[in-house]
Amino acid sequence: MALDNLIDGRAIADQIHEETRGHISALKEKSGPPGLAFVRVGEDPASRVYVAMKEKACNRLGAHSQTHILKEDTTEKELLKLIGELNAAPSVHGILVQAPLPEQINEATVFASVSPNKDVDGFHPLNVGKLLLGDSDGFSPCTPAGIHELLIRSNIQISGAEVVILGRGNIVGKPMTAILCQKQDSANATVSLCHSRTRNLKEHCLRANILIAAMGVPEFVKADMVKPGAVVIDVGVNRIADPTSKNGHRLVGDVDFSAVQPIAGKITPNPGGVGPMTIAMLLRNTVRAAIKATGQDLNTLN
Ligand code: NAP
Repeated sequence: MALDNLIDGRAIADQIHEETRGHISALKEKSGPPGLAFVRVGEDPASRVYVAMKEKACNRLGAHSQTHILKEDTTEKELLKLIGELNAAPSVHGILVQAPLPEQINEATVFASVSPNKDVDGFHPLNVGKLLLGDSDGFSPCTPAGIHELLIRSNIQISGAEVVILGRGNIVGKPMTAILCQKQDSANATVSLCHSRTRNLKEHCLRANILIAAMGVPEFVKADMVKPGAVVIDVGVNRIADPTSKNGHRLVGDVDFSAVQPIAGKITPNPGGVGPMTIAMLLRNTVRAAIKATGQDLNTLN
């Protein structure tokens, strides 16, 4: 019998896209379309796919996009010059610099060079600080913000819940902790942030009402690590060898999905869970940036 405990990230992302489409049409009438600039350095295959998917979604909803593709040997100075130009361009409301960047470029320097008002990825230190302080005027990073929306729109009780996050990365684990520990009705969770030095990891996992795996370790979370009825969110995107597939590999998450699904109360499929939400939140952030640029009240979005 098929289990009906999936959190359908594609359907929830589509709801958010429809809301965003409405905001974009309203903005077009008032002040012109929101504009999002993508910057990609080099030809990393995953980055090419990610930028293409984000561009497509942007154009489908009626926002403007422009894509800057720089050569692999671009210097940090050249990249910073381009970002400076985009920061100054009035038709550009959001700037996304796709990571990973080549090794001659310092990612932190680049993220800090994007205007905080155009930082739709939420990686600028000012926005990271606002997130931690619970100041809703900033931009939240798209993947953890998308997971938060998934939980809210799936009617999952966050307030008072024990949340265990596996992985303390700057893009998912740390900001996810900051979002869920806020003193707010949609948060108020007790959060444990686990990593490679955590002792008794399995015991932490077994305490979780909500278990979020963001490590980048293929199928790490097994059935005996999950409390029956827990909500399981799988963020990982891992490429593993698969001689039976046409290109010799396939993508899996950080959760052993077929073993964990029967135990979980709710679980995200992977793909089709967190991934679509990341793009939905990026476009939502772009609309927020465009509203901010006109000096209008951001609460018109809520
Ligand atoms: P990251 O910065 O590399 O962080 C990985 C974290 O996992 C680190 O904190 C590391 O611990 C921890 N870890 C690794 N192996 C572990 C183990 N065996 N036991 C316990 N902890 C372990 O990664 P990230 O950027 O946060 O990304 C995590 C995953 O999410 C990746 O698969 C990435 O592709 C995926 N992702 C998906 C989306 C999406 O839209 N679906 C977006 C972003 C990321 P230490 O800190 O101790 O080293």
